[in-house]
Amino acid sequence: MAESEPGGGGSTEAGSAGSELGARLERVRLGIADAARAAGRDAGELTLIVVTKFHPASLVRDLAGLGVADVGENRHQEAQAKAAELAGLRTPEGDPLRWHFIGQLQTKKARQAARYAHAIHSIDRERLVEALAAAELPDPARPIEAFVQVNLTADPGRGGAAPEEIERIAERVLETPTLRLRGVMAVAPLPEEEDPASAFARLRGYSERLRGLAPAADAISAGMTHDYPEAIAAGATHLRIGSAITGNRPTPG
Ligand SMILES: *Cc1c(COP(=O)(O)O)cnc(C)c1O
Repeated sequence: MAESEPGGGGSTEAGSAGSELGARLERVRLGIADAARAAGRDAGELTLIVVTKFHPASLVRDLAGLGVADVGENRHQEAQAKAAELAGLRTPEGDPLRWHFIGQLQTKKARQAARYAHAIHSIDRERLVEALAAAELPDPARPIEAFVQVNLTADPGRGGAAPEEIERIAERVLETPTLRLRGVMAVAPLPEEEDPASAFARLRGYSERLRGLAPAADAISAGMTHDYPEAIAAGATHLRIGSAITGNRPTPG
């Protein structure tokens, strides 16, 4: 096994499940490097968030052993339970886990999510910003990284703010000390609805609009298992990749 281990893994999972996970992670890292090279971008400026939703905390532990510090979850109760179970866990490099909340967040759960979330990618309404403004942070010097989620479809049920709401929500985030505005986030429409490259080009336009208001908010959270190369080509900085790394998700309980 020593010959296939790309860097410093060593101490954790030696079983076949662990090394399969490591191999899939490595394959995605190589895919990201290829897509970055093709787009003339530096892969070092991209953050890979491994989406671990529906999987047990033990999978997050295995990923941390492989050097993954950024993990994504889309359900509050599940995220909260995993964050509590894995409190204090660090990667072999000594980094604590950073929990990225990427799903619909109920206003009444916002204060609780603020206790473990490093970032919230699904800021889609002013009321959610107001709820987060009232949250107590574990470290008041470290505001939560906030992404305004934009709906790239015409279906309001899909999640995300309508594009014309971006500035209004962003202004609310900017005046909220518990939040630090990082950029925009989106999920591509279904492939039969629209080609991801054209949807992500629109997202890039929204990012430019947001930067007109807040020049530092230059992050773009986009790209999943089936569309991350297109997202990288369109300027994504934060990739949210699940099944290509974790394998198929168990059915949600
Ligand atoms: C599940 C999910 C992902 C990851 O999806 P994969 O196709 O498994 O890579 C990314 N973003 C959001 C918002 C998700 O809900």
